[in-house]
Amino acid sequence: MEESFWKYAFFILFMVWFFIRLPYGRNSLKIKSKTKIREEFEKLLVFLNFISMMFLPLFVVFSSRLDFAGMNMPAPARALAALIYALNLILFMWCHRSLGKNWSTILEIRHKHKLIQKGPYKRIRHPMYTHFWLLIISQGVLLDNWIVLIYGILAWGILYFLRVKKEEEMMIGEFGDEYKIYMKNTGRLFPKLR
Ligand code: SAH
Repeated sequence: MEESFWKYAFFILFMVWFFIRLPYGRNSLKIKSKTKIREEFEKLLVFLNFISMMFLPLFVVFSSRLDFAGMNMPAPARALAALIYALNLILFMWCHRSLGKNWSTILEIRHKHKLIQKGPYKRIRHPMYTHFWLLIISQGVLLDNWIVLIYGILAWGILYFLRVKKEEEMMIGEFGDEYKIYMKNTGRLFPKLR
């Protein structure tokens, strides 16, 4: 299949992702925050991921300069990646809808922050992070580009592993035993089966 077909397919999926996030991103600027944790460092990590999740993939779509980093992925693998990316959009929407105003790009507790335990949060503590693992891997395979794939995994892996424990400590600080019990009933990235 033509390379431009895959780039087109990615671009359409990416636009859906972008428009799912847009209203929440805009809204989050208006919602007041009570506590922020290591704000500057979190912003740096988010910026590194902005490069892998927005800038790099779009650069690959609109320019052929990174085409040398192709991996010769077979078409069925790229089609499967497109399918995973598409299904992953549903998880993304579900997370955003469930978290509502409690969502933010960095670590913070909002005014009137609520502990959400519904939707994907019923069995998983960090379903949006599950989403980002799937996103970063499927986009790299779909675009068949090892720079997108490796940089994406590194930038996301660094953010994830440096953040997840801090986030849980912050939630325990805010919600105490309620969050500790919640931790017992849920898995970090995968559902805890009872
Ligand atoms: N880690 C979650 C949320 C990512 S957004 C996920 O992967 O789905 C990050 C913000 O979400 C954090 O600053 C925290 O304040 C908030 N948060 C995380 N888990 C939450 C929950 N169960 N209920 C409400 N807010 C939560």
